[in-house]
Amino acid sequence: MVQTMQPRIIPRKEHSISRKQVSPNALRTLYRLHDNGFIAYLVGGCVRDLLLKRTPKDFDIATDAAPGQIKRLFRNCRLVGRRFRLAHLHFQDEILEVSTFRAAVPSNEADTEETDHNDRPPRHLKDEDGMVLRDNIFGTPEEDALRRDFTINALAYNIADASVIDYSTGLSDIKQRLIRPIGDPLVRFTEDPVRMIRAVRFAASHNLVIEPATWETLCELSSTISRAAPARLYEEMLKLFLLGSARPVFTLLDTSGLLAALFPGLSRWLDGNGDNRAVLHTNLECLDRLCRSGLPPSPALFLAALFGPGLEEETLARHRDGIPHLQALHAACAVFMEEFCKTVCIPGRVGGQLRGILALQPSLHRMPPRRPTSLVGRPDFTDAMSYLCLIAKTGAENRTAREWWEAFLETLSASVSAPPTDEAPAKRRRKRPRRPAEAAAG
Ligand code: ATP
Ligand code: MG
Repeated sequence: MVQTMQPRIIPRKEHSISRKQVSPNALRTLYRLHDNGFIAYLVGGCVRDLLLKRTPKDFDIATDAAPGQIKRLFRNCRLVGRRFRLAHLHFQDEILEVSTFRAAVPSNEADTEETDHNDRPPRHLKDEDGMVLRDNIFGTPEEDALRRDFTINALAYNIADASVIDYSTGLSDIKQRLIRPIGDPLVRFTEDPVRMIRAVRFAASHNLVIEPATWETLCELSSTISRAAPARLYEEMLKLFLLGSARPVFTLLDTSGLLAALFPGLSRWLDGNGDNRAVLHTNLECLDRLCRSGLPPSPALFLAALFGPGLEEETLARHRDGIPHLQALHAACAVFMEEFCKTVCIPGRVGGQLRGILALQPSLHRMPPRRPTSLVGRPDFTDAMSYLCLIAKTGAENRTAREWWEAFLETLSASVSAPPTDEAPAKRRRKRPRRPAEAAAG
């Protein structure tokens, strides 16, 4: 059980959070709850980020008002979630999540269902290894804080007096820039293995350090990550790799053993050749640069950055055995998807886009390319071109292709945006009759 201690109340003048940093919608919501006699706190990532002087992604609110009471207070409220009702407040440019305080899972319930004397389903449920399967019971503000993952994520900002409430060691961990679960890392990572990935994400994106004992436990438990639901792991993957810290994320996943547990095939490929890690490092650095320049990469581009080089190698090996290139690529992708989806479930559509990016590469590399304008019109072209730009860092022939295409695209956009001139338009060339294969392709 998570050790409870006296919460520390840090008055306004002793912390740096100002109301001006909070979204006006969140402030209005907090005040309306407070004015109606309810407790109203900002909680979770936004309090952490404000204390770390970062801009929060969103503002989450926790209260002792029950979902029905929240709904009655806010006309723009929609209740979501069947098991644990959450309120979503819809504003023009923002959706705020307002949740009723929830309780922690008592650890003495481990391994079994909570005994419930009537026939209602149990509110807490752990499997035989201690992983939480169900967790939906209202609780006190303190219980709500202590059921959260890390000390730095368990801080609350109280609108009543603008104080910060620390129920564990969040503030001192923020000062030391440490990530530490609330309670025993072994228990907390067993309850929910996804917390290990979250630790890696916060360490990489917020430039924090995973506390040494926590890191040791994380490395020991890394292979248990495959127990998490594959669809949830895919969502987590996107957060890990598409938010601008893919490169440091990769190193932490790699050294902790999480990478081998999540992507055994990739791990084998990395161990097969000493240079492969450097190739992926370069690709992921480029992916991060794209994010920073305000061009967030697509999920398919991230998959190509990470798995493309291995898949291309596998395709080439099959091609050398006499299989046509496209067919070899399809076969390599099919094997990859089958193995990958056992742990991390990639939607079929995204898998198709990954294949599309790789399928276009031979056409982009042919110098000079055939029918470049029609290639530009292909739906996968933008991502395929971005992939070419990523891999241009790791091969001279990729660089030549990239330079050719960049020059071509520049000419193309100049000709599209050029103002009309007085000169007579160039005589239109008679169209060559389309070959049957092209016609079939539309
Ligand atoms: P981000 O800035 O990436 O959104 P966040 O900390 O807000 O970071 P969310 O996934 O939005 O992360 O979760 C909101 C809060 O819910 C967290 O701060 C944490 O307190 C709690 N939380 C989220 N996931 C878990 C988990 N797996 N176990 C326990 N608490 C969790
Ligand atoms: Mg959040």
